[in-house]
Amino acid sequence: MSRNLANVKPNLIDAVALATSHRDRDELDRAVARMLFDHVHPNCVKVYRVLGEEGRQRVQLRVSIDSDGMRDGGAPNDPALLPLVSEKAHWLECALLSDAVHYLPQGYLGERFDSVFPLLGNRGLIGLIEVEFSGTRAAIRPHDANLVQGVLRILRNHLSALDYGERDTLTGLLNRRTFEATFAKRRGAVVGAAAPEPETPGSWLGVIDIDRFKTINDTFGHLFGDEVLLLVARLMFDTFRSTELVYRFGGEEFVVIVDGANEEGAAIAFERFRQAVAAYRFPQVGQVTVSIGYTRVAPTDIPASTVDRADCALYYAKEHGRNSTRCYDTLLRAGAITSKKTANAELELF
Ligand code: GH3
Ligand code: MG
Ligand code: MG
Repeated sequence: MSRNLANVKPNLIDAVALATSHRDRDELDRAVARMLFDHVHPNCVKVYRVLGEEGRQRVQLRVSIDSDGMRDGGAPNDPALLPLVSEKAHWLECALLSDAVHYLPQGYLGERFDSVFPLLGNRGLIGLIEVEFSGTRAAIRPHDANLVQGVLRILRNHLSALDYGERDTLTGLLNRRTFEATFAKRRGAVVGAAAPEPETPGSWLGVIDIDRFKTINDTFGHLFGDEVLLLVARLMFDTFRSTELVYRFGGEEFVVIVDGANEEGAAIAFERFRQAVAAYRFPQVGQVTVSIGYTRVAPTDIPASTVDRADCALYYAKEHGRNSTRCYDTLLRAGAITSKKTANAELELF
């Protein structure tokens, strides 16, 4: 007897195996949403990412699924516009307890509970999963709640292994390999013409390099040097808001992507960081400064060409007194530098 395999849902073990075969976080979010929807039978599942530093973490919907199908949460918006974890009582409780919370949904007076589960990573809460029951049954069954908890434990191990390969162990920032892997995906979201006006909003890539870091190591020792790297990374979290777009590129060099800013906005963001570092008093070491070069990300860019242009502006900053912020596009317009041919993706390929 033949069965229509297309209509057969994978069993739970297969679904977990499939979900944990993904290295891509978006694919993983989708697979988890689908798995819980198929096996717990709620009305709706929503998977959220939690971004930012503890104390002011924000919540971003990544994917939701109900009987009408799966919907992506949309392109990442300005993190400052996302709701804080503290804005919903059940999110906050789930975050504080690091455990599932069953709550009466807002505006509902009857006997009904929805559930929210924490998704934990190496450094604490990284996601929330809401399971809603309106229209199906009153609440999650204890058996299903245990099942979700088990699945999330497996997911945590998987994410922890992924994290290990994606992040720098000293600072916790994303590493260079991750940058290369995610850049092409992000570039799809870059809007605008090849040569946009300075007022056009877009994405900007900045290379940040600590000034005279070798001298800091030589004078105070590597341990203090490491401490400076850690504190600089922390200042980045504070200044650039979204921790997902800050990378340690190697040594004392970092890359940051600023989204949705025009030329003036990008200048303000990078300059604010330079000033924050210069104003900070590092234990023992005292003042540390950074030089920054940045450039607009073009729709045709490959990682190397963007980084090359930002590096060119960084080199200019180093040559002109350090502790300064330079924009490749502005320098080019002013005739202070000549165009980098590598700005064209095709030339890089051969
Ligand atoms: P400039 O202002 O031109 O950037 O000078 P610099 O001394 O910062 O540049 P240079 O590239 O000559 O030196 C970078 C130093 O960074 C050399 C290396 O020993 C140190 N370094 C690289 N990675 C680490 C690390 O993980 N920890 C510590 N403590 N030092 C590191
Ligand atoms: Mg340096
Ligand atoms: Mg360097």
